Amino acid sequence: MTATWALACPRCGRAALLEAPLGERGTVVAFTVLSVPGDEFLNDAPYAYVVVELDGGGRVTGWMPSIKSEGDLAIGARVHFVPGYKPGVQFARDADAPVPR
Ligand SMILES: [Zn+2]
Repeated sequence: MTATWALACPRCGRAALLEAPLGERGTVVAFTVLSVPGDEFLNDAPYAYVVVELDGGGRVTGWMPSIKSEGDLAIGARVHFVPGYKPGVQFARDADAPVPR
């Protein structure tokens, strides 16, 4: 996965940052279902906004268009990164789509 980037370290404010590869698989640690999205996601609502603990370390926020209600996802669900043209970091449940190698 290509990471989104920040302008400075959120902990110490240092601006000299390095790019680091992130794992493409992980576990949902928090989520909510959004029914009133921003303009970029108008055609995808409802969808889940998720926090994923990546295998190998790090947490990222992302979204999951296949999740239409809170019953469609659970804390602890295994997910993987889905490359695409839409903004944000998109994930899919391992059970819903092929898992990348
Ligand atoms: Zn720092």
